[in-house]
Amino acid sequence: MVVEMSDEKIVDKPFFDNDWFDEESKENTPRRIEGYKEELEERRDFKFTTFEIDEDYDEMVSIVNIDFMSFCSHHMLPFRGTAHVAYIPNGKLCGASKIPRTVDKFAARPQIQEVMTMEIADYIEERLEPRGIMVMIEAEHMCMTERGVNKDNTSMITSSIRGVFRNPPEGMNPREEFLSMIDRR
Ligand SMILES: [Zn+2]
Repeated sequence: MVVEMSDEKIVDKPFFDNDWFDEESKENTPRRIEGYKEELEERRDFKFTTFEIDEDYDEMVSIVNIDFMSFCSHHMLPFRGTAHVAYIPNGKLCGASKIPRTVDKFAARPQIQEVMTMEIADYIEERLEPRGIMVMIEAEHMCMTERGVNKDNTSMITSSIRGVFRNPPEGMNPREEFLSMIDRR
């Protein structure tokens, strides 16, 4: 039988039985959840400023080991890990903090890692119009380590590879260069 869930709100399906909570929690947890929700919304809202450069800087800019925490939208359990981003500019740069902020922006809601990887690449690509961009995310999913298949130490690795990272010109191998930087940590 197919269960129709499309019209039901997920929030109407409590994860824990209400009776499990003590009185203090029953009274204050809804407010704490609301506060956390506001914090996530703030994280999603930031200005990605860019600046033009005169010099023809066309070397790779890499921001690696960006820690993040998100929630798997299938199981509402956390997944956490690190993101690595590299781009080769085409006359436009951004402040270094904009890349981790972009990762936080897309992590700050229930997510699917594969989609999040793509969204981060799309968002930066639209704003910087670089020659190429590559995003790699490595994360541990509680829905895999603490339940279901129960495998500790298992990571999921996803990537999004665009422009010259995907189709490099003769004599250039930015993908390899980027991966070697990640390995060095
Ligand atoms: Zn999951």
